Amino acid sequence: MPDPPLMSLDHEELVIRRGRRSGVYTIIAVHSTALGPALGGCRMWRYESSAEGARDALRLSRAMTFKSAACGLNVGGGKGVICLEPGRAPTGKARHDVLLDFADTVNVLEGNYITAEDVGTGSKDMAVISEVTTHVTGLDRRRGGSGDPSPYTAMGVEAAMRACCEKVFGTSDLEGRTVAVVGAGRVGSQLVKRLGKAGAKLIVADIDESRRAVIDSLPDAKWTDPSSAMLAEVDVLAPCALGGVIDQVNVSRLRCQIVCGSANNILAHEGLADDLAHEGILYAPDFIANAGGIINVSLELDGYEPAKARAGAAGIEDTMRALLQESEAAGVTPLAAAYRLAERRLQSASG
Ligand code: NAD
Repeated sequence: MPDPPLMSLDHEELVIRRGRRSGVYTIIAVHSTALGPALGGCRMWRYESSAEGARDALRLSRAMTFKSAACGLNVGGGKGVICLEPGRAPTGKARHDVLLDFADTVNVLEGNYITAEDVGTGSKDMAVISEVTTHVTGLDRRRGGSGDPSPYTAMGVEAAMRACCEKVFGTSDLEGRTVAVVGAGRVGSQLVKRLGKAGAKLIVADIDESRRAVIDSLPDAKWTDPSSAMLAEVDVLAPCALGGVIDQVNVSRLRCQIVCGSANNILAHEGLADDLAHEGILYAPDFIANAGGIINVSLELDGYEPAKARAGAAGIEDTMRALLQESEAAGVTPLAAAYRLAERRLQSASG
């Protein structure tokens, strides 16, 4: 279901606490535990106010419910937020304190919420959080965790892209397909390597010129600036940087046939899924295409095995194929079909 127009709450729990060590607000929203404990990352970010942080936790936790449900995971939707004051992110003891304060808030939920890394946090932070709570994933591999999720996210994006190409071009083969990858960070750089290996012709862009090295050994890859890459005439546009990159202004200027990338909230608002369909562009719902990371981390709950993570990420191809079939049969956008799929799972769990 798309976000309600106003932030009407349909969540199970919202915990807001001011840390006793750091004085920083730590917030956790649990949207749904219908399918299992709520799993979602801890975002450490600067917000204009703690209310803004709470709003973000509510919005993101809801999205996690639909993402996990649509991908067949037995986990619910939750999200943690650490509301930083303006300025640089804390380091050293200040960072340690804020993470322990967040871990206290995780414990308040008594296992209904399990945390993981997200924007602003990483596996080292999860290790600190694990000093205080056991409800934590995303630890590094030496500590029995699932490690960096981005290779699995990239694997899942490629799998989703293959299903989309099959739908549009009649074959899932990526050999000779032109793909613009916008954002060559952790996920984007691995996607570039995978696509290069599959024989795709690449246009790659990042605001950080130092990322250019990702195309070094790829003869069929060109480097350009992000705006040109967004509007390049390609088979597939893969946004792998920030959210909101497709908006009311550029939607009619895109020259791709498929949008399929890792960025969260690729669309500035969800109504743009209809606009893309109107333009004849197939939009792979971001929360399906980028689910490899959550699939990977969710496996920690039952004992992590990399082979299962690989199989799960590769399975996104089948999920996307089924979605595209449903979308065509029902005459709705792939995004609407993804929400329908998630709703069915949630209803069967609560019914
Ligand atoms: P990252 O920070 O490693 O990489 C992001 C890259 O985008 C950076 O290299 C940055 O310089 C670049 N960038 C920023 N603004 C840009 C712009 N306007 N144009 C072009 N490039 C720009 O992040 P990541 O982990 O690779 O994640 C990328 C996206 O995928 C994010 O939206 C993230 O939420 C989403 N995502 C990541 C994972 C994961 O496993 N890491 C899982 C699910 C979703």
